[in-house]
Amino acid sequence: MPAHEPRAASGRIALPLTAWAAIGRGLLCRCPRCDQAKLFLRFLKPIPACPHCGQDWTHQRADDFPAYIAIFVTGHILAPIIIALARDTALSVTAMLAIIMPLAIVLMIGLLQPAKGATIALQWWFGMHGFVKERPVQAAANAEP
Ligand SMILES: [Zn+2]
Repeated sequence: MPAHEPRAASGRIALPLTAWAAIGRGLLCRCPRCDQAKLFLRFLKPIPACPHCGQDWTHQRADDFPAYIAIFVTGHILAPIIIALARDTALSVTAMLAIIMPLAIVLMIGLLQPAKGATIALQWWFGMHGFVKERPVQAAANAEP
C-alpha cells in the first residue's frame, strides 16, 4: 500500500470522484488530489509537492499540451468575433488587428495556467508518468463489475 493511502482512507483527503472533478480542480489551479492547496509555485511552475496532502507533482509532464489547449480555445473564442467584426463593421485591417491582437495575447496568457493545471490533473487521474492511480473508495467500489 502506498504511503499516502491511509490519509485518503481516513477521509481527511477528499479525492475527486471523477476525472472531470480532478480537471475542475486543476482548472482552478488547486491541488487535483485534495483541493486544499495551490498547484503552482509561480506562473507555470507547479509546486514540487502539495503542502496539504503531500502529493509529489514532479511527475507531471505537461510539456506543450497546455499551449495547444490555450491556442485551440483562444481561436474558437476569437473566430466568431473576427467574423462579426469583418462582416458588421467597416474597420480597417489595422483597426481590427489593434482589437484582436491584444485580446488574443490576454486570452492566451490567461488560459495557459488553467490549461496546465487541467493537464496535470488529467495525468494524475490516469496515473501517467509515475503518478499513482488512486480512486476514492466509493468510486472504486462502483467501478467493480
Ligand atoms: Zn493536495
